[in-house]
Amino acid sequence: MPRIDLHIHTIFSDGTYTPEEAVLQAKKLRLVAISITDHDSVAGLDRALAAGKGMGIEVVPGVEMSSDVGEDEIHILGYFLDWKKGDFLRQLERFQAARANRNQKLLKKLDGLGMGVDYREVRKLAPRGVISRLHIARLMVEKGYVSSIGDAFEQWLNPGRPAYVQKMKVSPFDIIGLLLEAEAIPVFAHPFLSHRDDLIPALIKAGLKGIEVYHSAHNPRVVAHYKRIAQKQHLLITGGSDCHGEAKDKVLMGKVRVPEALLIGLKKAKEKMKCSTPT
Ligand code: AMP
Ligand code: MN
Ligand code: MN
Ligand code: MN
Repeated sequence: MPRIDLHIHTIFSDGTYTPEEAVLQAKKLRLVAISITDHDSVAGLDRALAAGKGMGIEVVPGVEMSSDVGEDEIHILGYFLDWKKGDFLRQLERFQAARANRNQKLLKKLDGLGMGVDYREVRKLAPRGVISRLHIARLMVEKGYVSSIGDAFEQWLNPGRPAYVQKMKVSPFDIIGLLLEAEAIPVFAHPFLSHRDDLIPALIKAGLKGIEVYHSAHNPRVVAHYKRIAQKQHLLITGGSDCHGEAKDKVLMGKVRVPEALLIGLKKAKEKMKCSTPT
């Protein structure tokens, strides 16, 4: 059965593969389609689309955006986005600026806690991409402040932990609105990690179209749970590994079995969206 992977990060956020390397890796794994979904960035999409054409792999342009509800983080994926449409790139710049500001504050906090990490070192790990907590966590491990990336988050970087700094308070409803303006299909990413199933009806009202049922953090029981929700709420089902190349303990691409058939639903939704948008 042909397989796909609709959740992959590159060097333009916190992954370690270039767009070309991500496509090549997908080809080696015999995936038929992938989506590049960098955090708050579309900088790798043109290159990924070109590489996909060259190597005969379908590349779905995507993005992953974070939002907050209280202390909970909700991530929303946007598929088939038309990122040059309207105000989307300007909005992305706002998110990138908030991220940069958060990173400075976070590094200051770490310094105060006796775990100095130099900004230039972080930049070296992400020479062209947006900087995420994962880059900082990797350096914390490298410096021996913590024994693993998981520890870095659990002890210091997660909400409620001493080095946590919020980026910018933005609701998932606003993120969905922003994605819809760019004609993207908004999908609730790895819902199991957010523990906020209660929000799903309101997210649907705001325009949510799908839910990421298959994900590295979802075991078979979790998959069955979200499949049921998707069916009941008439949501599209998507899936991806959330591969960050070698930035995490394992290279995850292709490790989550996602059937190609799911892409048909996404494409139909995109077509419908195009038809209903006034030109
Ligand atoms: P940011 O978007 O800068 O707040 O950073 C969040 C990123 O850190 C996520 O996209 C993940 O890649 C990574 N991350 C968050 N929590 C963990 C964790 N417990 N273990 C490994 N990586 C994590
Ligand atoms: Mn990430
Ligand atoms: Mn995420
Ligand atoms: Mn992700």
